[in-house]
Amino acid sequence: MSRSDCLYEVRRECSDGTGRRSVYLTFDDGPNPLFTPEILDVLAEQRVPATFFVIGAYALEHPDLIHRMIAEGHEVGNHTMSHPDLYQCGFGEVQREVFEANDAIMRACPQASVRFVRAPYGAWSEEVCTASQIAGLAALHWSVDPRDWSRPGVEAIVDRVLASVRPGAIVLLHDGCPPGELSQGAHAGMRDQTVTALSRLIPALRERGFVIRSLPQHH
Ligand SMILES: [Zn+2]
Repeated sequence: MSRSDCLYEVRRECSDGTGRRSVYLTFDDGPNPLFTPEILDVLAEQRVPATFFVIGAYALEHPDLIHRMIAEGHEVGNHTMSHPDLYQCGFGEVQREVFEANDAIMRACPQASVRFVRAPYGAWSEEVCTASQIAGLAALHWSVDPRDWSRPGVEAIVDRVLASVRPGAIVLLHDGCPPGELSQGAHAGMRDQTVTALSRLIPALRERGFVIRSLPQHH
C-alpha cells in the first residue's frame, strides 16, 4: 500500500457493497475502567456492534474490558501503545508503537483479531502508513466527528452526528482519554456525556433508517 492508497483508505467512507444505509460506531482512547463498561452496557441493551480503538498500555491494565468487548461481539482496533503524535516520531518509534499495541491487545485477549489501526489525532504520516502495512493493518480514519471529548453537551453530540451522518459514515466517539491529556482539568477524562449521547443516538439513527453494523472486510 503506497501512501496515496493509505490515505484513500483513510478518507473513504465504508461501504459494505450492498448499498444499505450502514453506519459504523468507533470509540477511541480506552479502555477506561469507568466509562467503557457503561458504553458496553448501552451497546448491549441496544444490540449494536462497535469498534474500539484501544491504547495498548490501557489494554494491558484492563484486559477484562478487552475480553468483554470481544465476548460481546465488538471489534478491537489498534490506537498505538501510548498515543503519541506520530508526526513527531521517527519510523522506528512509529513501528514500535503499532507493534507493541498489537501485542498488548493479543496478550489481553488472545481471541482478538486486530484488522484496523487508527493514528492518534489522525496523524497519518508516511511512516504510519508503512508501519500499518507491515503489521497487516488497514488504516481507518473517521468521517463524523462530534468532538465529544470536548464535552460540548449531550444534545450537541447527538445533533452534530445526525447533521453529518450519511450511508457508510464512520462515527468517532471516545470511551477514554489519552494519558497525556488526563491532567487538563477535572473533567478532561469524563465521558459521561458520550454515554448518554450514545443511548439517544442509536434510536435516532434507527429512526432515520440507518443500520449500525460491524466494519466490513477491507481489501
Ligand atoms: Zn485518540
